[in-house]
Amino acid sequence: MERSKQKQMNQNENEADSAINGHFDGGVKIPGWSAAGTPSTAPSSSVMESWREERTRSLEDNEISLPSIAAAYTTILRGLGEDPQRQGLLKTPRRAATAMQFFTKGYQEKIIDVLNDAIFDEDHDEMVIVKDIDMFSMCEHHLVPIFGRVHIGYLPNKRVLGLSKLARIVEIYSRRLQVQERLTKQIAVAITEALQPAGVGVVVEATHMCMVMRGVQKMNSKTVTSTMLGVFREDPKTRDEFLTLIRS
Ligand SMILES: [Zn+2]
Repeated sequence: MERSKQKQMNQNENEADSAINGHFDGGVKIPGWSAAGTPSTAPSSSVMESWREERTRSLEDNEISLPSIAAAYTTILRGLGEDPQRQGLLKTPRRAATAMQFFTKGYQEKIIDVLNDAIFDEDHDEMVIVKDIDMFSMCEHHLVPIFGRVHIGYLPNKRVLGLSKLARIVEIYSRRLQVQERLTKQIAVAITEALQPAGVGVVVEATHMCMVMRGVQKMNSKTVTSTMLGVFREDPKTRDEFLTLIRS
């Protein structure tokens, strides 16, 4: 990735972090390309860590940590004024712990394992778009769901990715504790690093339960984030083609 783009992305990341403590307050976020060209001296962020070096959690780790997570849920139930011993709650701590491990199973997977054997040399040079990929994630600030849809486009440069793998990349990054901006960026960066395409565009439209159920309680508010890299960032025509196609 070119250094200038990396900087711009970090700039966006910092903006996101500084705005309302990294959280959304109900408004629709202006898509990321509006920040294109913003000068930045931001240091590189751990968010930009390569997809080759992700931390992982093993199935064995899940087994080992299940009792302590369940015990923590028992504490939470008691702290909420509930009786963890009443019949309906007897199995809840363990069930909740198992469910939380499932909701965060993206930590158990590596992008590189998904991409192995799925990258093909191909002279295709038209835009590839997969839209309306279902996404379920967890807000890292409140530990409640974020859900929505992801649209991905890229312009190949001699290499293409099996189409189902785009959804797998979304799955791996979304099944972690997230903020929507980072999720959007991680998907775009993974595709960029894997394929070295001419450009990548990722748009995420999501509902945050922490917004819907508490605070502002805007039932229908959706947050839209985007990351545009390469020609998707530099060439308005390419970007517009992508945005038109995902809205059609
Ligand atoms: Zn939240």
